[in-house]
This record gives sequence, structure tokens and C-alpha cells, in this order.
Amino acid sequence: MNSPSNDSRATGQRIEPLIFDFSSPGRIGASLPALDVPEAPLPLDFLRRAADLPLPEVAEIDVMRHFLRLSQKNHSIDTGFYPLGSCTMKYNPKVHEKAARLPGFTGLHPLQPADSAQGAMQLMFELQVYLAEISGFAAVSLQPAAGAQGELSGVLMMRNYLYDQGETQRTKILVPDSAHGTNPASTTMAGLQAVEIPSDARGNVDLGALKTQLDSIGHEVIGLMLTNPNTLGLFDENVLEVIRLVQAAGGLVYGDGANFNAILGITKPGELGFDVMHFNLHKTFTTPHGGGGPGSGPVGCSEALAPYLPGPVVAVRARNGDEEDIDLVWYMPQYSIGRVKSFAGNFGMLVRAYTYIRMLGEEGLRAVSQNAVLNANYLQARLKGAYPIPHGDRTCMHEFVAQGILEEAPTIHTMDIAKRLMDFGYHPPTVYFPLIVREALMIEPTETESRETLDGFVETLLQIKEEAIANPQLLKEAPHTTPVGRLDEVRAARELKLCATAAKPG
Ligand SMILES: *Cc1c(COP(=O)(O)O)cnc(C)c1O
Repeated sequence: MNSPSNDSRATGQRIEPLIFDFSSPGRIGASLPALDVPEAPLPLDFLRRAADLPLPEVAEIDVMRHFLRLSQKNHSIDTGFYPLGSCTMKYNPKVHEKAARLPGFTGLHPLQPADSAQGAMQLMFELQVYLAEISGFAAVSLQPAAGAQGELSGVLMMRNYLYDQGETQRTKILVPDSAHGTNPASTTMAGLQAVEIPSDARGNVDLGALKTQLDSIGHEVIGLMLTNPNTLGLFDENVLEVIRLVQAAGGLVYGDGANFNAILGITKPGELGFDVMHFNLHKTFTTPHGGGGPGSGPVGCSEALAPYLPGPVVAVRARNGDEEDIDLVWYMPQYSIGRVKSFAGNFGMLVRAYTYIRMLGEEGLRAVSQNAVLNANYLQARLKGAYPIPHGDRTCMHEFVAQGILEEAPTIHTMDIAKRLMDFGYHPPTVYFPLIVREALMIEPTETESRETLDGFVETLLQIKEEAIANPQLLKEAPHTTPVGRLDEVRAARELKLCATAAKPG
């Protein structure tokens, strides 16, 4: 093989070679001043290597172009529309990055004494207060690193609370069939048993089925995990009754807050009666997401559950009992489930979420949800008729679920439509989830997209439908424009290739 060219025209759309493939003996990316002290070798007892490390020898420009090209191979919210349902892929304002990079934050050491980190702790304290206010809960812990970890924390809190009341016969958690897979997974990780509750024809929790389960195993139930709006993009019309039934049976209700983007400033889960809920700061509150950064999944809860929150949390202390003379301290709630993350959680994410809330304020946050819901309903209305939308008769919240089923093109599946969308520069919607909708295409535009972007996406989906009818093979073989075409996903999972091999220059 010839040495690869470091020319974007040659490599931009192809598989990017390894950085080792650009190596040329003696080439170097840094220029150091001449030594002004006598050269001395490291002592041998420092376990010096016998041979040089086989590192690539490259110039700065090679490194720059290589990694910039790699960075451009991923679709990202900064490069295009990303309607990945349930994931709330909204634009992350860049002012957050500036805030998170302030030297007063980046220079902190996690083991620094609290009295020298009061500014960072004030930000955390205020964020706890804001999240509690926005959600209607009494207390918040910022510890968990993701929604799933918030779920595990919340389930452990519910379990420990009930066990402390002597209710140790309770070992089951009810989980609607529309729930995210993390709900039953968190239940299992907490050593408990998940019991599925079906949805009814309108997409709500099936009240009859819930009552039947509570009548038979209500005394064994720790609680119910409810996502509202749910993963069909629907606000459960019976949410108050669902909560009442579970609590009447002595259980608690967990709120999966991943879909909070639909109800900011409009509905408070704490006031609806939820006992505990996680927030996904990386969804609702625009901290980077997925490959773009670590997550953050704070938990909020009622007064009764507050002593069980993971900790430490930030609390106000009045020094010498003097209300005027206060400082902020780390506080471990009395019956805390303990620490779930090292130090202060993913602190950089907290700075970004705090910045977002402060930037928007109450009116701005409400507008976020209003526009997210408006955008989703606009897309749903425009796609109705072209693609099946099982609950399209209802107003959706911030997302809706269509189906990749075309009567005129019976061989076409959701996967073919999703792959074809990539040829037009779109990230595909969430596919085959929720599990209760066949060939699901779950679309969440978010509030940050313009009318033009939404129209472009609709036109593309309409064109893809025409292509599916006229030339189904075009869809079956998509994507056509990406560096790697359609993978055999089963084989890729079975025959893992985790180690790239450098091409030998020659
Ligand atoms: C994203 C999501 C979760 C899990 O959150 P992570 O931060 O990815 O762990 C849970 N439930 C729903 C409905 C979600 O969309």
C-alpha cells in the first residue's frame, strides 16, 4: 500500500487511516529551544525502556487534519438536525462552554476544603434550589451521573424508605410497557423485581390492568415508575389516578424525568404527586450529550424521602446560630443511600445547566416547552397521511411515534427509511422504540430547530416515501454517502474487531 496522502480530497470521505500511517521517521510536531543545561540520561534504576516507544512521528499539520477529519465523521447537533426521540438532542449554547471554562471553576481541586470552594458550592446550591422549584420537589441531589443512575438512586431511596417503615415484604416495581429499558434495569440492579403494566388503546397506563395488579400484589409493591409524558410522546390523561392508586396501595411513584422538556414551567411533577424523579441535564438543560460529554442525572424528591437522597448535597449552615453569618457545607442526608459518584458529580455539567436556567429564566423555560411541543405537533401534522402515526389523533407533547410502514412498498422497513435519511444529512429518529409500536420511528425535533429545518425534514421523508415505492432497492442499500455503508449488525457484534491495524507504509 502506498503511504496515505494527508489531503482532505483523498481522505475526507474515505475510511481515515491511522495516525501511524502518516508517520515518517524523524518528523516532529514541536520545536524545543536548545538545551542550556548539560544533558544527563535518566538513571537506569528508573526502569528506562530498552527501546523507543513506537509512537507516530508526525508534524502538527498531520495531527490537526487527521483528528479534525475524524471529528467530522460523526453526525452531531452542531452539524445537523438530530431528531432522536426521547434523547432531546437540542442545540447546546456555546456560552455554556465559556462559563464551564472559567478559571475559578477549572482550577478547583475536588479535595479542596469547602471554605475555599464557596463559589462553586453556591452554584450547586442554587442549582439544587432551581431544579426543586421547576419540578415542585422539596429537595434535590446533584450526585448521579446520568438518568439511569438517577433511577437507581431513586429506586433505592423508595426501597429504603419503605423498609425503614417495616414494609420489608415489598420487593416489586411496576413498570409500564412503554418505559425505557433503563427502568426495569434499574429495578433489577436494586435487587427488586419488575412487573410490566400494559398501555391502553389511547397510549395511557391501562388503569384496569393496574388495579388488577394492585389488588393481587399491592402489598408487595414498592412503587411504579412512570414516564410522563411517556415514550409515545403522550401526556398520561389519568396521571393523577395512576398516582393515587399506587399510593393508596402503600407504594411510591417514581418519575422518569427524561421527557421533562415538554412540561417546563407548565406542570410540576412534585405537585402531581410523584415522590421522586430524575432530571437529565444532558437532555432538558442542554449539557452536551452522548459522545459530546458526560451526563448528569440529579434526583429530586418529596420531604419524606429527602433524608434518603444520595449525598453529599450542599446545605446552608448558620455559623454560631447567626442567620446573617452563613456558609455552605457538604451535608450527608440522615439516611442517605450514600455516594453514587465521586466528588461533586459531573461538576462541569452543573455549570452548563445552571447557565442555561439563568439565561432563560422562568418565562424562557416555559417557552422552551411550548416551542418543543409546537414543533413536534407541526411535524406530526405534516407527516400524517404519509406515514402511519398510531396515536396521531391526540395532541403530542415534545415527540411522537410514527411507523416505517408503507402499504405501497411492503418490503420497506423502518431501518431502510432511517438509513436513507443519513444520505440527506439527517441523524435518523429513534428506531424500534418504544417496543409497543411496530416499526417505530420516534421523532423529537426539539424547540431549537427552525421552521425551515422542519420543512426540509418533512420534504425529505416524503421524497423517501416516493423512492421506496419507485425504487425500494435504493433504500435497502442505503446509506450511500457515508464512509461505511450498511453494516451487518449481528456479525459486527459477534465478530468484534476492537483493534485497528496500521497499514505498513511502503
Ligand atoms: C434517556 C432516557 C433514560 C436514561 O437516561 P440516561 O441519562 O441516558 O441514563 C431513561 N428514560 C428515558 C425515557 C430516556 O429517554
